[in-house]
Amino acid sequence: YATTHDADLVVIGAGPGGYVAAIKAAQLGMKVVSVEKDESLGGTCLNVGCIPSKALLHNSHLYHMAKHDFEHRGIKVGNLSYDFKGMMDYKVKAVKALTGGIGMLFQKNKVKLVRGEGTLVAPNKVEVKGEKGVEVVNTKNIILATGSEVTPFPGVTFDEQQIISSTGALSLSSVPKRMLVIGAGVIGLELGSVYQRLGSDVTAIEFLGSIGGLGIDGEVAKTLQKILTKQGLKFKLNTKVMGIKKEGGVVKVEVEAAKGGSKETMECDVVLLSIGRRPYTKGLGLDKVGIALDDKGRVPVNNKFQTTVPGIYAIGDIIHGPMLAHKAEDEGIVCVEGIKGMPVHFNYDAIPSVIYTSPEVGWVGKSEEDLKKEGKAYKVGKFPFLANSRAKTNGETDGFVKVLSDKTTDVILGTHIIGPGGGELINEAVLAQEYGAAAEDVARVCHAHPTCAEALREANLAAYSGKPINF
Ligand code: FAD
Ligand code: NAD
Repeated sequence: YATTHDADLVVIGAGPGGYVAAIKAAQLGMKVVSVEKDESLGGTCLNVGCIPSKALLHNSHLYHMAKHDFEHRGIKVGNLSYDFKGMMDYKVKAVKALTGGIGMLFQKNKVKLVRGEGTLVAPNKVEVKGEKGVEVVNTKNIILATGSEVTPFPGVTFDEQQIISSTGALSLSSVPKRMLVIGAGVIGLELGSVYQRLGSDVTAIEFLGSIGGLGIDGEVAKTLQKILTKQGLKFKLNTKVMGIKKEGGVVKVEVEAAKGGSKETMECDVVLLSIGRRPYTKGLGLDKVGIALDDKGRVPVNNKFQTTVPGIYAIGDIIHGPMLAHKAEDEGIVCVEGIKGMPVHFNYDAIPSVIYTSPEVGWVGKSEEDLKKEGKAYKVGKFPFLANSRAKTNGETDGFVKVLSDKTTDVILGTHIIGPGGGELINEAVLAQEYGAAAEDVARVCHAHPTCAEALREANLAAYSGKPINF
């Protein structure tokens, strides 16, 4: 071997799950090695996910506001235009600032970074193939945090220019005239919004009869579809894609009604495929230590994130649960605490989901559909942003807050927000749900006025007493 290292813990993958786990472990006194194959730290989230998409969403939103919303507020901007390359450069800077920060945090916390592809060769041994040849780490524990990759579409190859994944959509060189988005889940809606705001004619094709992906409340999904349609996004629901091919400089997408029947060929300049992601475990050597994947390609773990092999743990997108950065981070922290013999507690009912469209959608806990399926008796407290003083003053009144609570105990079971700052507001609902609050508890907490968060309070008031004050 080129170099031999010794460690208490090796973390393979430096995405949000892996880098947070590595730092936490070092803070708890372990000798930690982080193994990362990519040049830039931060994984999917920082490089080709959460961060670059939010940079483009924020700046395209500002442009859209300036173009369609400023004038009636008494703001004149004259000849408005955008510089797409400038927007992309801004995105690159935003990503670099954060990925570089991880390297500094590693140094500060004395996490040793070994660059290269990590492979399990034994339960206590990881080989790393990198530029320096093959290095080896002998270790007491291993956390697998190798994340996920785009789910491919059968028979289609991404050229990342005309047939693109989310990664290509974050780095296009120009704004396409016509874009088709396959899958109206969270990536389709977010990146579809970006290009629609910049002038593309965007149609999202979705297999299901509703948008927003898994877990979204049906009433919220319908409201979101209505609002996005008003903004100019088009939807083709209950539709399956049969084939995609490039022909004469354009992309032809063959679609058919999901239940069979009418066929149609749609044409576009760029097609974005966003039909989900799958766990990434290529080259990890799971077979060498005897870890078998489940039927969805995930690494099975127990509630302490232990795989079937003692001393090997797994977190983040490669295990069960939603593929979200904050879920991966929190699993990393409690997994490491478990290795140190501390209690491991993770509440999967209190993980927030956010879709960063305009308005934002945020939710936590059960949807009405979930509760109906479970046969649970529940109360609904709803409050529209139209009746919230701050939203009204700001001229951002689309949407509502809906709180679902237990009919007898008043304990909050789910909160659903579509409206201004929904992605920030949801965190208060997550806190309430994590601590087992009743709707009355939130309704009795003093909220600053005038804020959009008062709508959350009023929805809780409506859930517990049946009557909000301002509506
Ligand atoms: P990853 O972030 O995928 O990191 C895995 C790391 O492991 C990578 O750096 C990879 O190079 C490395 N690796 C893999 N195999 C090896 C190996 N053998 N050796 C060494 N290194 C290896 N989530 C949110 O919560 N909010 C959002 O707004 C959001 N937006 C998104 C937008 C897009 C376009 C996409 C694609 C995803 C988005 N996500 C978002 C999801 C989020 O990015 C993931 O849930 C998160 O990154 C998962 O973290 P992870 O640590 O499990 O894996
Ligand atoms: P998704 O699961 O959110 O949505 C995929 C959509 O594609 C679903 O609505 C599904 O019904 C549809 N679909 C599947 N196959 C289809 C087909 N053949 N034809 C038409 N429609 C089809 O997946 P995604 O949008 O690709 O996102 C992947 C992951 O990344 C998600 O798990 C998500 O958690 C994560 N992510 C999160 C955020 C965020 O938190 N804001 C943003 C982007 C991505």
